[in-house]
Amino acid sequence: MAEREVFLRFLQSRRVGYFSMEVALQQGMKTYSGGLGVLAGDTLRSAADLEIPMVGVTLVSRHGYFRQSIDANGRQVEQADPWEPRDWAAPLPAKISVQIEGRDVWVAAWLHVVTGLTGFEQPVILLDTDLPENGAEDRQITHFLYGGDASYRLKQEIVLGIGGVRMLDALGFPVHMYHLNEGHSALLTLELLRRHKMSERSVREGEPLYDVPEVRALCHFTTHTPVEAGTDRFRYELVDRVLGPIVDARVLRQVAGAADLNTTRLALNLSEFVNGVAKRHAETSQKMFPGFSVSAITNGIHPTTWASPPIARLFDRFLPGWQIEPELLMRADVALPDDEVWQCHAAARQTLIARVGADAGVALDPDKPILGYARRMTQYKRPDLLFTDFERLKTIAGRHPFQIVLAGKAHPRDEAGRRAIEMLHASAGALRGTIEIVFLPNYDIELAKVLIPGVDVWLNTPQPPMEASGTSGMKAALNAVPNLSVLDGWWAEGHIEGVTGWAIGNGEPADGDAASLYDKLEHVVLPLFERREAWLGVMKGAVSRNASLFHSHRMMRRYAAEAYLR
Ligand SMILES: *Cc1c(COP(=O)(O)O)cnc(C)c1O
Repeated sequence: MAEREVFLRFLQSRRVGYFSMEVALQQGMKTYSGGLGVLAGDTLRSAADLEIPMVGVTLVSRHGYFRQSIDANGRQVEQADPWEPRDWAAPLPAKISVQIEGRDVWVAAWLHVVTGLTGFEQPVILLDTDLPENGAEDRQITHFLYGGDASYRLKQEIVLGIGGVRMLDALGFPVHMYHLNEGHSALLTLELLRRHKMSERSVREGEPLYDVPEVRALCHFTTHTPVEAGTDRFRYELVDRVLGPIVDARVLRQVAGAADLNTTRLALNLSEFVNGVAKRHAETSQKMFPGFSVSAITNGIHPTTWASPPIARLFDRFLPGWQIEPELLMRADVALPDDEVWQCHAAARQTLIARVGADAGVALDPDKPILGYARRMTQYKRPDLLFTDFERLKTIAGRHPFQIVLAGKAHPRDEAGRRAIEMLHASAGALRGTIEIVFLPNYDIELAKVLIPGVDVWLNTPQPPMEASGTSGMKAALNAVPNLSVLDGWWAEGHIEGVTGWAIGNGEPADGDAASLYDKLEHVVLPLFERREAWLGVMKGAVSRNASLFHSHRMMRRYAAEAYLR
C-alpha cells in the first residue's frame, strides 16, 4: 500500500491539468513524435523545478510513433517502436469509461512521475484502452501516436479530452484549471459543458443551456498552428456517429464551427485565456481568429535537459544557480573564459563526430565547421532550401570548406516530407567529394542532445509565417551554438545580427531566401568561423542573450502568473 500513500500526496494540492496528445518524458517512453511533445515535457519538467503543481495527461501510445531507417535509395522506412509502460510507470487503481460509437470504452491509467531539481514531484497520467474489457478495435485506440484515419484520431481525442477529465476526477485530483496544449484535447471542453448544464428551471426562464462563462474560466488554450489547414477538423456526420450526443447538437455547432467540428475553434470559444507560442505567431493567430484575444507567451526549453554535460559543468562553475534561475546566463559573455567555452564545444563536437562515425561510417573533419539541420521533414520547413543551387554551394565550399549533418522524420502520410528525405540523400550523393553531408536516421531526443550541441551553426529555413515558434534553435543557443535562421517564430525575437547569430531573408514570404542564405554563409558566417576570437563572441552572445530568455522556466512563470492565477 506504500504506492497508494505516495499517490495520495498528489491529491492534496490544487493542480493544473495539462493535456497534450504527446509528451517527451524519457528516451525510453515513446509517447512523443517531435517538437510539441518536447515542449510538453519541458513544461512539466520546469513546473516541477519551480514547484508549480500540475498533472500531465496524455495517451500511453504503447506502439509509439515510429522508428525511422533509410533504405539504399534514400527513402524513409518506418518500423514499429513499441515500449513497455510497466518499465516506466505504475498502474493506478481507477477505471473510467467513455462512449464511442454507442459503446462503453474503458480507460485505465498509468502514473509516471517527473521529479524537479528540489525533489518536487509532478504526476503524469498515461491513458490506456488496451484492456480485456474492450473489444479488439477499442484496445488499439491508445496504441499509435498520430496513426490511423480521422475516425481513429477522433476516438483518441475522445479518450484524451473526455476520458482525461473523467480520469482526473476518478483519481481525486483537485483540478482548478485545464491547460490544452494544442487543439487535440479540445473535446475536454464538451465534458466540462456537460457538467455545467443549467437547471431546467433556468433554461425555461430563457437562460442558455450551459454555463459557458464558468467553463471558459476553467480553460487555458495554447495554440501551435499558424494556418487554418493545420487544425484538426471532423465532419459532423463522423462526430455524430463516433462521439454521439454528449452536448446539445445546436450548441456544439455554435462553439465548434457550423461546417465541421474544428478543434481550434472549439478550444478558442471555450477558453478564457488563449496564447500563441511566440509574438509573431500570436499576431498571425490573432489575424486568423478576429474576435478572440490571443496573448503571446513565447516557448522555452528546459535548461537542465538541453545543456550538454560539458557546458552544464562550465555553467555550474561560473554561473552557479543557472538551472533554477536561467536568467543568470545573461552574464555568460563576461563570465565565461573563451578557451573554456571552446573546449566544451570541442568536446560536444567530438561526441557528435564519434556518433556520425558509428552511425553513418563517415569521418567528419574536426577542423571544418559543421552546419546542423534537423527537424520534422515537411514542406513548410523547406529542408530543400540549402540545396537549391549545387553550383553555388560548391563555390562556397571551395572558398570556405564546411560539412553538414542532417536528421528528421516525415509523418508516414506526408508525401512531400518523404520526398524531402529522398532529395536530401540525392543531394548528399551529388555533392560527395565536395561537401560531406550526413543524414543521421531516427531523430529523437537522445539524438538531438548529441547533434545540436555538436554542430557549429544551427540552420533553420521555414517558410514564414509558418514556424509557430521552433525550439531546437533555443537548444543550440544554450549550448553556445549560434543560429542562422529565417526570421520567423522565436528567432524573430532572439535574433540580433552578428551578436546571437544571423538572419536569412527579412522574415517576409519571398523567393530570395536561398540567395540570402548563400550570401550569409559565404560572406559572413563561414569567414567569421575562421576568426576564433570573434566567433567565440557570437557563441557567448547566443548564451547570454538567447539562453537567458528562451527557457521554459520563464515560460512557466508567465503561464502561472497570467493564466493559472486568473
Ligand atoms: C527540439 C526538438 C524538436 C523541435 O524542433 P523545432 O526546432 O521546433 O523544429 C523536434 N524533435 C526533437 C527530437 C527535438 O528534440
